[in-house]
Amino acid sequence: KFITLEGGEGVGKSTNLRFITQWLDSRGIDYVQTREPGGTPLAEQLRTLLLEKREESVDPTAELLMVFAARAQHLSEVIKPALASGKWVICDRFTDATYAYQGGGRGLDRALISQLEQTVQGDLRPDRVLLLDLDPEVGLQRAASTGEADRFESEQSAFFTKVRAAYRERAAAAPQRYAVIDASQPLGEVQARLAQELEDIAGA
Ligand code: C5P
Repeated sequence: KFITLEGGEGVGKSTNLRFITQWLDSRGIDYVQTREPGGTPLAEQLRTLLLEKREESVDPTAELLMVFAARAQHLSEVIKPALASGKWVICDRFTDATYAYQGGGRGLDRALISQLEQTVQGDLRPDRVLLLDLDPEVGLQRAASTGEADRFESEQSAFFTKVRAAYRERAAAAPQRYAVIDASQPLGEVQARLAQELEDIAGA
């Protein structure tokens, strides 16, 4: 099973990722936990470049190609071998983040993203996308209070509003593959919902 966790800033991705891996551990399910951009030495270097250079004006298409370059390496080195050996893969962000950030946020053409997706992934898509959905104003406040504010201080909340809209649009177009989870709820409720989804995926 290939599961991805998605959402904007401050939605609680890290906390909920820990919950997911604890759930898998408790079931004795063999899995690989990884993230994007990143997950291999080359892809992590690309991630560092992307995050360091974001204050400079990076051409959006250059950014898009770097994200997919990292993904190609990640797929061949980590994701595909893990899935082939029967392990679950839990990936912190994947191609939906590309549609949300480079598509929604940076305004790149979805058709271009879709072409690259097909080239790099072939028919491989996540079995389930767990989308933590939250008003970006709330997310940004949360992130600020946990000291994660610096890296997007300069970015506008308008950007994150577009990111959220693009995520939701993706989910609405394929509701059977997406679980949209209201991340404004108390953590216990969010995690109850995650557990339900995981049960469902395990049973499928
Ligand atoms: O998942 P995490 O919050 O650690 O991601 C780090 C940053 O990478 C995010 O703040 C996001 O802005 C950025 N990112 C991006 N494009 C992607 C994936 C992540 O700009 N496709």
